[in-house]
Amino acid sequence: MSEAGIVIVGAGQGGFQAAASLRDSGYQGRLVLVGDEPGLPYQRPPLSKAYMKGEAGIEQIELRAGAFYADHRIELVNARAAAIDRAGQRLLLGRGEALPYAHLILATGARNRPLPVPGHDLAGVFYLRTRADADALRGRLDEARRVVVIGAGFIGLEFAAVARALGHEVTVLEGASRVLARAVSPEMSAFFADAHAAMGTRLRLGAGVIGLQGRDGHVTGVETTDGAVHPADFVLVGIGVVPNVELAAKAGLEVANGIVVDAHLATADPAISALGDAVAYPSRFAAKDGPVMVRLESVQNAADQARSLAHRLTGKLSPTGEPAPFDAVPWFWSDQADLKLQMVGLAGATDAAVLRGDPASRRFSVFRFRDGVLTAIESVNRGADHMLGRRLLAGTPALTPAQAGDEGFELKSLLAR
Ligand SMILES: Cc1cc2nc3c(=O)[nH]c(=O)nc-3n(C[C@H](O)[C@H](O)[C@H](O)COP(=O)(O)OP(=O)(O)OC[C@H]3O[C@@H](n4cnc5c(N)ncnc54)[C@H](O)[C@@H]3O)c2cc1C
Repeated sequence: MSEAGIVIVGAGQGGFQAAASLRDSGYQGRLVLVGDEPGLPYQRPPLSKAYMKGEAGIEQIELRAGAFYADHRIELVNARAAAIDRAGQRLLLGRGEALPYAHLILATGARNRPLPVPGHDLAGVFYLRTRADADALRGRLDEARRVVVIGAGFIGLEFAAVARALGHEVTVLEGASRVLARAVSPEMSAFFADAHAAMGTRLRLGAGVIGLQGRDGHVTGVETTDGAVHPADFVLVGIGVVPNVELAAKAGLEVANGIVVDAHLATADPAISALGDAVAYPSRFAAKDGPVMVRLESVQNAADQARSLAHRLTGKLSPTGEPAPFDAVPWFWSDQADLKLQMVGLAGATDAAVLRGDPASRRFSVFRFRDGVLTAIESVNRGADHMLGRRLLAGTPALTPAQAGDEGFELKSLLAR
């Protein structure tokens, strides 16, 4: 029988990083990375940025070249994991094989939330999560003239910026009253709404989509709650994702908006851990009265969780002699045309916002506070604020709202103490 080592399900950002970090941390046993997408593991962020624009090819977005996996004795298995036999510690693959494991890592990520309206299956309607999605829509985008983007989240707005740059007519439809509503302050939403309007994009807020219209099986328009029909020969749906939890749920593991893990990324089964977009974990950054469960969708979250887990599984201990819980400061970025948005921390919807710098200069930050305590920083083209924010938020930031708004106040001075 083959050696039972560490088996990782999901060869995306988090699964790849877990494999690489396990080897970096000295793990010597068998290491198998099971993924259901074809080809080598790759980065998703360029799919809506450089890869979409045609400025980066497949080699540029692959996380490592093929030789890396052989050199590090990482077995890449292109298959779908169908079930977990917890009693027998075996992962069952869809093609009938079983992989024994000493430890199993679930890094199954998330998939696109489907648009639940009539006409969703017309030709010309696309989603963007995988390289296959990107290749399919890039092939059709060239022929399109009127592009409608459904959803003004990060992927929708990044795609809209690229489509405008390529010369398409672009309409963005958003059911909420502001763009990026789940992620940023109202001030930042207003800035990005204006920026997209200045690029020539038509933005319709409060415009819920109720149906797609078509002719001869191809999309021709998008109907919204206000009775309008927005002509379209190409539609990109970006209305969020759902975590891939079914494998865990079927195996009897707890699932609640993600595979539930503890502060060490462990499930209730000591032989199974989970990480990345698929998991809900306790974060101290989300509330001031103690950790609350969150599910984050970012490269940083998946990669830092993978590193943390690799340390635990290889017995690396914190200075206290215990395995360290996962406690990295959450951060994220998004590129839209010449605007680089960087976010650090986790703000609640009602957290107060303080501006530092002038949005008209297209270089400014919004500092978010809850009960006078810094919770998050959103920066546009102002990387220094973001980098300082990562260090400030890792500790207990003493920054006051007045200091944040005073450009004469040196943020760095708080670190020196
Ligand atoms: C277009 C786009 C742009 C993005 N831009 C940014 C950005 O600018 N900044 C940022 O921080 N984040 C960005 N993200 C988000 C980021 O890519 C994700 O947060 C990150 O990839 C999560 O890593 P993960 O390993 O948890 O999941 P994924 O990278 O999604 O990997 C999960 C993998 O598991 C596979 N899988 C699932 N179930 C099974 C199974 N049963 N058997 C085998 N394989 C399975 C999936 O097919 C997938 O390949 C972007 C995402 C997209 C789609």
